[in-house]
Amino acid sequence: MIDSHVHTKEKVIKIGDFRKKLYGAGMTGAVILSLPPATFFTAGQKYPFIQRLNNILEWCKDEKDFYPFFWLDPLEEDALKQIEVCCKQGICGFKIICDRFPPSHATATEVFRCIAAKGKPILFHSGILWDGKVSSKYNHPLEFECLLEIPKLRFVLAHVSWPWCDELIAIYGKFLNALALNPQNSAEMFIDTTPGTPVIYRKEVLEKLYKVGYDLENNIMFGSDSYADEYNCQWVEEWIARDKEILSSSGLSDTQIDKYFGSNARRFLGIDKFVLEKKLPLAGLN
Ligand SMILES: [Zn+2]
Repeated sequence: MIDSHVHTKEKVIKIGDFRKKLYGAGMTGAVILSLPPATFFTAGQKYPFIQRLNNILEWCKDEKDFYPFFWLDPLEEDALKQIEVCCKQGICGFKIICDRFPPSHATATEVFRCIAAKGKPILFHSGILWDGKVSSKYNHPLEFECLLEIPKLRFVLAHVSWPWCDELIAIYGKFLNALALNPQNSAEMFIDTTPGTPVIYRKEVLEKLYKVGYDLENNIMFGSDSYADEYNCQWVEEWIARDKEILSSSGLSDTQIDKYFGSNARRFLGIDKFVLEKKLPLAGLN
């Protein structure tokens, strides 16, 4: 069981405390995201690259099931250099929020290419963005269609892109089709269901995802958006229980549910390496 979306704050690192709470919620591993880049905040404390890198590495030190992700601003002048250093230091992947540029921005695209070439995955924010800025327009799922041009990129769109969940499913179909046509080279899209979705939308969204008829059960994963520093066990447990109930009442098998809560994240992270043959989405031409 992997929580694929956990944040950090600038606080004293208490790994043992976090592990205990994580296990308490029924999880055994976590993707942990670094502190944000300086450009993300309009106010408040900003942290230099090296401090953010050391902080996230410290969180994951000696914990084989904690996966450090570095939150990168692809428009920072030394972004490519940052990727080099991160990869050498053992970063498992990158978190990116397109808060003032579309994903198709030329400089950003070059950075995404570099990450794909290193074999590392990217976790993108998608959906409405609570950052106090005019930024949500860059995070529509369709904005990410440009990633089709980056060979072998593994990326995930977070928060089921709420409230644009239908658009997310449509763009997933597009990437699935591309992957089925060109399994060796195409980019592969994953879906992160981190709330995101307010509770009243949850059942509708999960049912749409699993019943749309797309080959999706290997590309969807659970995350909590909680903080490692103050992991909200009870809240995470509630989301897990709610999702389990929705998925099992929708007729999903235990194996499918296990994939959702863990093994899909392992494949996204590149820990489990195997190529899945994808079924083409249904179309009249098939
Ligand atoms: Zn988040």
